[in-house]
Amino acid sequence: MDVSAAPKTNVKTTNGMIQPGTFRVVAGPCTVESYDQFYASAKAVKEAGFEYVRGGAFKPRTSPYSFQGLGEEGLEILSEVSSELGLKVVTEVMDPYDIEVVMEHAQVIQIGARNMQNFSLLKRIGAAIAGTDHGAVLKRGLAASVDEWLLAAEYITSEGGDNVVLCERGIRTFETATRFTLDLSAVIVAKRLTDLPVIVDPSHAAGRRDLVIPLSKASVAAEADGLIVESHHEPQEALCDAEQALPIEALMGMRETLQPFATAMGREVI
Ligand code: PEP
Ligand code: MN
Repeated sequence: MDVSAAPKTNVKTTNGMIQPGTFRVVAGPCTVESYDQFYASAKAVKEAGFEYVRGGAFKPRTSPYSFQGLGEEGLEILSEVSSELGLKVVTEVMDPYDIEVVMEHAQVIQIGARNMQNFSLLKRIGAAIAGTDHGAVLKRGLAASVDEWLLAAEYITSEGGDNVVLCERGIRTFETATRFTLDLSAVIVAKRLTDLPVIVDPSHAAGRRDLVIPLSKASVAAEADGLIVESHHEPQEALCDAEQALPIEALMGMRETLQPFATAMGREVI
């Protein structure tokens, strides 16, 4: 398909996640593990000056024997902690059956890389968020081209769910030094082909915490509208994606570290 033919989609930013002139940082643990773990990790996100927290209750794990998330109990923890701390929540939905309950507990629905082409899920999410203040973050599939990614987004927008944010999270290549390969050119290309905002997930792309800040700086320069990063109050103890979780100290310095790059791009880190 000729991607240049893809229509530009006008985005409404009613949930405030992406605002003009800003660079949004969403941070938090890969997975909600317990009330205490999520509270400690979310408190650090708040203290670092950020307004959006992430955390998975339904986890798409490669192995069926890995921890699958706390499900509805995890959603309760997400909304309890976020309302206590005054944060907004981004969390993943894997099953159309769970869309309604997730929307009761979270403002932004994440569609994971492994579900990017789950068209019935995309359509149902589009219909569910249409006319609401909820938004959706659509991760790029591990082996999806930019045009496939943009067309997947249109399964959501064509149902009326126009509050969609694209997320580049690394693609499969021959390279083994990183977990995936962060494709920053795709960020720039996507921004030229659509009006949808584009954010970057450097955590899943790198799979290593030492690369998360450098890749975040590069994302600002590559015209991204924000980041979604994994952070944990005790990274070594994380039940999922421990190697890529930023410790609290790194999170605390992140705003200050990124602001000079954002200033060069005419944006404020929020
Ligand atoms: C996640 O955000 O924890 C996740 C599983 O991401 P992805 O779908 O990009 O692998
Ligand atoms: Mn993860």
